[in-house]
Parts: sequence; C-alpha cells; structure tokens
Amino acid sequence: MIPRQPMSNPESILIPENLQTIAQKVFSNQRLAPEEALKLAQEASVGLLGMLANHVRTRINQHDLWFIRNFHIEPTNLCIHRCRFCSFRSDVTGSAWELSLDEIKTLVEEAPEAEEVHITGGVHPDRDFDYYLNMIAMIRKLRPTLHIKAFSAVEIDDMAQMNSLSHTEVLTRLKQAGLDALPGGGAEIFDAQIRETICPDKTDGPGYLAIHREAHLLAISTNATMLYGHSETWEHRIDHMNKLRMLQDETGGLLAFIPLKFRNKNNLMHNLSEQTLVEDLRLFSIARVFLDNIPHLKAYWPMLGKETTEILLDFGVDDLDGTIHDSTRIYSMAGAEEKNPVMTLEEFVSMAKKHQRRPLRRDSLYNLLETY
Ligand code: SF4
Repeated sequence: MIPRQPMSNPESILIPENLQTIAQKVFSNQRLAPEEALKLAQEASVGLLGMLANHVRTRINQHDLWFIRNFHIEPTNLCIHRCRFCSFRSDVTGSAWELSLDEIKTLVEEAPEAEEVHITGGVHPDRDFDYYLNMIAMIRKLRPTLHIKAFSAVEIDDMAQMNSLSHTEVLTRLKQAGLDALPGGGAEIFDAQIRETICPDKTDGPGYLAIHREAHLLAISTNATMLYGHSETWEHRIDHMNKLRMLQDETGGLLAFIPLKFRNKNNLMHNLSEQTLVEDLRLFSIARVFLDNIPHLKAYWPMLGKETTEILLDFGVDDLDGTIHDSTRIYSMAGAEEKNPVMTLEEFVSMAKKHQRRPLRRDSLYNLLETY
C-alpha cells in the first residue's frame, strides 16, 4: 500500500498503486470498462469498494433511501421447469398450490394500503393465456391505481410459446389488461455454460434480454436481477452486468438492479456453501460502481436479512423494496434469513436515520409519495 495520490474525493484513505487509476475514474464519474471492474472486484479491499460504491450512490441518489408499500402474489408453485437452485416448486417442497382468480381477488382486497403488487411464480403446465389476462384485468378493475408488476421474462416467454404468440403480442395484451412493469426475475446468470448447469430448460440469456428490450419499447418498465454466489466467477458476473448496462444504454427501461443471493436450503444445489457477508458487500459495491446507468440498487431484505441489508446501506444500496407482510414464499423456502418477512414503517425509518439517510416512500416509478 502506498499513500493515495491527490484525488477529487476528499476522503483520505490508502489506495494501492495498482488500483489508483481505476479509483480515480470512479471519483471523476467516468465509466469503468468490464476489465477494470473485474480488476477492482478481484483486487480491491472491501473498504475501498464500499467507499467507491458510496461515491456513486451519493452521486446518483444523494442520501435517499426508498421503500414502497407492496405485497406479493405467487399464483402457483407448479412449474414446468427444473432449475436446480429452486426451493419453491411443488416437486421439491412436496406440496402444491394453484390460486384461483377468486383467491387472488381476496389477496388484493386484503392489502388496501399497498401501492404495488408483485406477481410471480412457477410456470403452470396448463393455464392458458386468458387466465393471466383475466388476472391482470381483474386486479386493475378492483384497484385502478395499484401498480401491477408481474411476470418474469421466463413466464412471458412460456406464455408466448404455450399460446403460439409472439413476445410482443403477449406483452401488448398484458399491458392492455393493466400490466405496468416486469419484476426482473429469471435472469440468473447469462453465461450459457453456467445456465446449462443450473437452469438448462428455460429462457436463455439472450431471450431474457430480448424480452426486456421488447417491454421497454412498449413503455413497460422492468427491473433486472442476477443470481450470485453459486458456481459463477467474477468474469461471469461482470459479463452479466455488462449485458444489462448495454441494454440500458439502448432503452433506458431498467429501474433497478437486484442481486439475488443463492441460498442452499431445500434444493438440488444444497451441497454448495453460501457466500459470506464480505462477498455480499463486494458484489453489491461492484454492481453500484459498474452499473452507472441503472438508477437504483435494491437490497431484497427478506432474502438477505435485515442485519445484512443494513450493512449494505454503506455499500451502494438506495432501495429496500417493500414492507412485505409474509406474502412471499420463494426465498423463505430456500433458507432466506427472514422466515416471516415483515418490516414495519418504524423499522425502516429507524434504519434509514441511523445511517443518515432520508427515508422516502415511493411509487413503483420512484416518484416521491411521502417523507418521514
Ligand atoms: S426457479 Fe422459477 S422457473 Fe425455475 S423451477 Fe423454480 S419456479 Fe420454475
């Protein structure tokens, strides 16, 4: 380590000579090339990564910390796919559910204060497209202003294939029924070889990107995800994020990036150990620094746990998703930290203020609804 050369950042820390040029680029708000992000990921200390991520987060989001009042609907855990990391589908859990439209109606009626519903689940073997159209139309009629964020690119792809429709037709008709956005699941890792090992039979990386591009062209916003901490390398992660960054340069339709941590309970990849907290911090920091054109970095706290999430506030995170009332089972089944995920408004506000952040409630498009 040698003393840091004078930089635009006033903070005084030691930066190793081999990383000074890259750090200077971040401090002067220049974009990192993939190989620079890779070098940073492989060689920087977690302290330096946190400082760089904080710099980018502050530039893009100042001291804001966002949340939304939302709830989840998982229409079924039956699924035609066989992802090896899945702890959710019925043949893994030993029990199945399929929600009727009446049951979904009840769930919507039970969440009158929410401003967003997040809908995703397994790919049912025989539901026809009308079921999904009727679901979205029914929710729209019940709650005209509720933001409906529904269906991963995998679900969209399968609706198209099973009903001999194009992706454009599926997305257009869902939008006409009331769909507002896609949640971003199903990305996993774009690398074809890794995908062949962990989720060989579903929408591939180019397919995921094409569906998101199509959604953006139809003015349907999306999030994007990455499943990390299983068999992938840093090269795979940077490649994945680079593809998202290029898509965002093209369309501008991505609202948030959500790293999803691989959990090893109750699935076919239980022999793999989980990543450490330090690796989580490194991953989130690199994501914030590299994805300079995606406005928000979201920590999905039910999966990560509240303690890890709080630490991540100092590693680039500006969004905690929602106050979820025990309505998602996808991650709790995989060994998520929060078994009955509930975060009260008081907890959120207290966490934000402890870290000198401005707690803000938003709508799905990050319009400000309330400050605390
Ligand atoms: S992860 Fe999703 S697509 Fe894959 S098997 Fe599980 S429910 Fe199906």
